[in-house]
Amino acid sequence: MAAFDLAIIGGGPAGYVAGVRAAQLGGRCVVVERDELGGTCLNWGCIPSKSLIAAAEVFRSVKRAERYGIEIPGGAHADLAAMVARKDGIVAGLVKGIGALFRAHGVRHVAGEAEISAPGEILVRRRDGAREEISARKIIIATGSRPAQVPALPIDGERVISSEQAVHMKRLPARLLIVGAGVIGCEFACLYRELGAEVALVEALDRVLPLGDEDVSRLMERELKKQKINARLGERIACVSREGGELVAVLEGGGEVRADTILVSIGRTMNTAGLGLERIGVRLGERGEIQVSERMETSAPGVYAAGDVTGDPMLAHVASAEGVAAAENAMGGEARMDYRAIPAGIFTHPEIGVVGMTEREAAEAGREARVGRFPMRALGKAQAERAIEGEAKIIADAGDDAILGVHVVGARAAEVVHEAAVAMRNGLTASALARTIHAHPTLSEALMEAAHDLHGAAIHAPPRKMRR
Ligand code: FAD
Repeated sequence: MAAFDLAIIGGGPAGYVAGVRAAQLGGRCVVVERDELGGTCLNWGCIPSKSLIAAAEVFRSVKRAERYGIEIPGGAHADLAAMVARKDGIVAGLVKGIGALFRAHGVRHVAGEAEISAPGEILVRRRDGAREEISARKIIIATGSRPAQVPALPIDGERVISSEQAVHMKRLPARLLIVGAGVIGCEFACLYRELGAEVALVEALDRVLPLGDEDVSRLMERELKKQKINARLGERIACVSREGGELVAVLEGGGEVRADTILVSIGRTMNTAGLGLERIGVRLGERGEIQVSERMETSAPGVYAAGDVTGDPMLAHVASAEGVAAAENAMGGEARMDYRAIPAGIFTHPEIGVVGMTEREAAEAGREARVGRFPMRALGKAQAERAIEGEAKIIADAGDDAILGVHVVGARAAEVVHEAAVAMRNGLTASALARTIHAHPTLSEALMEAAHDLHGAAIHAPPRKMRR
């Protein structure tokens, strides 16, 4: 039986990063992955979707080239199969990159499905058909998550699909119904609409991006409408039937949506089944997530967990940060997770960048909040780029001026928001952010102006009392 200091189950952003970190600390480490290194993020999630979205953004610009004084005789045509092939190339390169990282750091990769057979022991059914037993002083479970399913919408992988099939879809459906207007649903809605599909979006709650700030939801709903995406809010699918070549989704409140393809994006389920967790006493929470301490320890001694399998927030960079913390602790360190200033990007059109609380969360936390905002269209750089949609919004404590949350909607918002994350992480006030001189002309000036607006000092906006 091969013996290691640390065995990691799952080679996604939590698992592979944990492997590299443990090796940096001198550990003998093995990562068992049943599918491809890179996990959901690299193979079916972040990178595939963002590769396709980048292609759609180029298409958007080319279609609107005339507005920049550029004529394109014959117009532009999108070839989804070619975009998917480009995406496949990017993914393959990055997957290889993780393999190279493993070799460079001396991390062993075993391709196969792992199960914990006893404390400190793992049985792997290898992809080549062999069985391998591994013993390890410590174990990290980083098995991630998969698309959630509901009985009303069984995923067949062909006409009713999840994001896992969507990123491989080579033919654009004429009519696409997306169920769930969370982050993934909205990103795919903007992507396929831009490429020319007729898109309907059905969401059970009363707003798009229901977990985010309400102003952002309202703004996004306006933008989706401009793109002619039919968002049906507060509606649920009762069942789906087939009529000839069509899919007919019947809504619980009456009415129906007809489509060629249905993309189900209603959340994620944690991958905990078949791992042998009950054998070693790993406790699960209400949603099936592995419960962990701030040191990423599970209830079983010497067993850590990291990433989506531990529940929200299900983000790749959070998974990696948790993987690093788990690896450091498994190697005898004292790392603790701090979830206070985690930025997140939503790659819709326009893009969204978020860090910290929504206005509602600030109120629920008992903070008296003050809000500053600044519209993108008032920026010279946004006008130069014709990226005038959106606004920057900053929420700060009315007493001590601490930044509580920042929500940016607009071009490259997911990049712009990082300065707010640095400010929040390091306890800077909104005034400190406002007084940091920002380069002109940049989109980041929106954040500086929004921070000034909190104190009635935004230069390129009318006085607050004159606004509706
Ligand atoms: P995963 O990436 O799911 O990796 C877990 C790995 O474990 C998998 O490779 C799986 O095959 C393996 N595994 C499971 N069980 C076993 C077993 N028994 N034996 C061996 N191996 C096993 N996040 C962002 O931050 N930004 C984004 O833009 C973003 N976009 C996304 C878009 C889509 C369409 C989706 C679906 C997700 C997106 N995410 C995004 C979320 C992100 O992909 C996840 O948060 C991230 O992948 C979680 O990493 P993880 O390592 O915890 O799990």
